[in-house]
Amino acid sequence: MFELKREKPLIIAGPCSAETREQTLETARRLAATGRVDMIRAGIWKPRTRPGTFEGVGVRGLAWLDEARKETGLPVAVEVASSKHVENALEFGIDVLWIGARTTVNPFSVQDIADALRGVDIPVFVKNPMNPDVELWQGAVQRLQAVGIGNIGLIHRGFSTFGASSYRNNPMWHIPIEMHRRMPELPMICDPSHITGKRAYVAEVSQRAADMGFDGLIVESHITPDEAWSDAAQQLTPENMAEMLDTIRWRRENVDSAEFKQALEQLRGQIDHLDAELLAVLSRRMSVAEKIGMIKKENNVTILQTSRWGEILEKVKRQSQLLNLSEEFLGKILEAIHVESINRQNRVMNDGI
Ligand code: PEP
Ligand code: MN
Repeated sequence: MFELKREKPLIIAGPCSAETREQTLETARRLAATGRVDMIRAGIWKPRTRPGTFEGVGVRGLAWLDEARKETGLPVAVEVASSKHVENALEFGIDVLWIGARTTVNPFSVQDIADALRGVDIPVFVKNPMNPDVELWQGAVQRLQAVGIGNIGLIHRGFSTFGASSYRNNPMWHIPIEMHRRMPELPMICDPSHITGKRAYVAEVSQRAADMGFDGLIVESHITPDEAWSDAAQQLTPENMAEMLDTIRWRRENVDSAEFKQALEQLRGQIDHLDAELLAVLSRRMSVAEKIGMIKKENNVTILQTSRWGEILEKVKRQSQLLNLSEEFLGKILEAIHVESINRQNRVMNDGI
């Protein structure tokens, strides 16, 4: 069985969808020829947002993948969204399964898949759910663990959002980081294709994942990306993908150097000290807010005075450059402080009423 946890970064690549036998085999051949790929991916059943678009070739694609595997010697992975898909994939000896983002959100579907996998020894990747909910992601993993799946990996593919942004899905890196904190034993790879939605951005997100200590990548690759039947804008040719991979610098989680450890410890000492100072200042600030609450109460004045909040934000805008802190970051911090201040004042105002 293919072991998902390994020393080197795990690289999975392949088309968003298997479209024809020729396209599947040719993509697999050219990916294998790059020598940079550990596993081939392809969607057979495609969960599409809108009806009337290409929804995958279905079971016959499994036969093409089986051929691709035999020809290249590389293991193959497909997405499953139901127990029926699992049965079909197992029949064709597919090596690895993954659960897609639209399925992870649904505990009924995940349980249906888990039930079909009881007693089966196959690696399974679980993509994050569409929405940034770590509980749901962890719950899906636990459903698989409960039926005895021991070889589980995680895929971070970003989260859907409303409104325009440069990426198709918001990476919200703190979510996979929290998932990793909760389940550190599970390898986690990144899907820069579905995060970005555009091939031009795939490299930068891949590098970010490498910087964050991810264990590998799953990248969409197609022999003629612009003609792909799904996700055309985000796919790379096998050769362009290999070139992209060559630019990625993978970092070590730790290094056995006394000098490095000493420097790190010294800097972390400074951070601890500064954090303590920050907290003490915050505590003093909240006491002042409470005093303001008291005088507002005595004078029967509302807590929220919009003009004052506007003034604070303006001041911060001016200071952000000077302090070398982004406006966005300062804005978020001040907003959190402001909310807490209002809560404190609220408490003071209603005390004893
Ligand atoms: C896919 O990998 O082709 C796919 C449908 O991805 P996701 O579930 O992340 O949208
Ligand atoms: Mn896709």
